Amino acid sequence: MTDLQRTATSGFENAFGSEPHGLWTAPGRVNIIGEHTDYNDGFVFPMAIDRRTVAAVRRRDDDRIRVSSSFSPEIVEVSVRALDPDALHGWSAYPLGVAWALGQFGAPLQEVPGVDIYIDSDVPVGAGLSSSAAIEASVAVALTEIWHLDHDRRTLAKICQLAENRAVGAPTGIMDQSASLLGQRDCGVFLDCRSLETDVIPLGFEEHDLELLVIDTRVEHAHVSGGYAARRASCEAGAAALGADSLRDVTVGDLDRARELLDDETFRRVRHVVTENQRVLDTVRTLREHGPTSIGELLVASHASMRDDFEISVPELDLAVETSMAAGAIGSRMTGGGFGGAAIALVPVALASSVSEAVTAAFAEASFTAPTIFPVRPAAGATRES
Ligand code: ADP
Ligand code: MG
Repeated sequence: MTDLQRTATSGFENAFGSEPHGLWTAPGRVNIIGEHTDYNDGFVFPMAIDRRTVAAVRRRDDDRIRVSSSFSPEIVEVSVRALDPDALHGWSAYPLGVAWALGQFGAPLQEVPGVDIYIDSDVPVGAGLSSSAAIEASVAVALTEIWHLDHDRRTLAKICQLAENRAVGAPTGIMDQSASLLGQRDCGVFLDCRSLETDVIPLGFEEHDLELLVIDTRVEHAHVSGGYAARRASCEAGAAALGADSLRDVTVGDLDRARELLDDETFRRVRHVVTENQRVLDTVRTLREHGPTSIGELLVASHASMRDDFEISVPELDLAVETSMAAGAIGSRMTGGGFGGAAIALVPVALASSVSEAVTAAFAEASFTAPTIFPVRPAAGATRES
């Protein structure tokens, strides 16, 4: 048993006074490449990471569903027969929202037994590693088993997305849940956001002794909602002007025509999405043909595109990327929605601490807030542990 599984078990016992029947875990994720492509029907390529959320669960003999977590000492209790997405608030909306969403996908909530659920996690919250998908996926696989449901992983991803959209009220896509549910050790999860087809792609980090450094700049995502809405609007306007349903249908070969038809800013927004889609495809192909040490240029090009064309980077993210590359990283880019948050750097394990020290020193030199830097490795998706 890992430390986390032990603390989840004792947390469950303290909260509910009995032992859990099982432990189910699900990972957080980082996006390797494919930024602001999801809502343009495009491609993304995240990986599940070796930071996990545990759901310790015990079946009950009545209709009660109780949730507690290391996050807060409260126990939230409702009847599984009366789950209402509009009545869920705070952190408990994640696990209870999943129970409700399973009902929307056919689980007979008028018959299933109640459960006690205790959540513990070492996925940092709000660092862009999707602690939210980890909690949803861990609860989804637990309840699927305890309630004898029969959903494949792709359906579970939709169920978790429904919980986050409707019960939590966060209008997210399906990338995070797909990575957490479909990830495999030392693999990335290629996702076509239009067809929802997925492909698990070996990364080869183990063979090449590589890991990803997450460089959390701790810059709050300022202007994120306004900036996000403006980027989406530009993408829609660009697609419409080009006569396309979405930017997914615009290719690199169409960019000359786009430059003539669009104003400069819209053109650059479009160029980011179109070239980023191509970079995701190129990353997957390069991994297959040449392995992980060959994807660095694509990561760096992705960052430059977000900095110059999509204009969603900040000086801290640019410095993290420049410094890690100068210190020997294979590739580096900001990850996530932008305007703050984290960068990633693909590094040989032997260089991880010197890259990390170089970035920390550069931030101090620039009088930026000290970044939080830690390594992650591509790990297995949601699973039962015991
Ligand atoms: P992230 O980028 O980490 O996914 P979100 O805002 O989407 O950030 O989700 C974070 C929220 O998920 C937290 O505010 C909390 O409500 C919930 N959450 C995440 N991990 C846990 C946990 N271990 N226990 C309870 N709630 C959690
Ligand atoms: Mg989230």
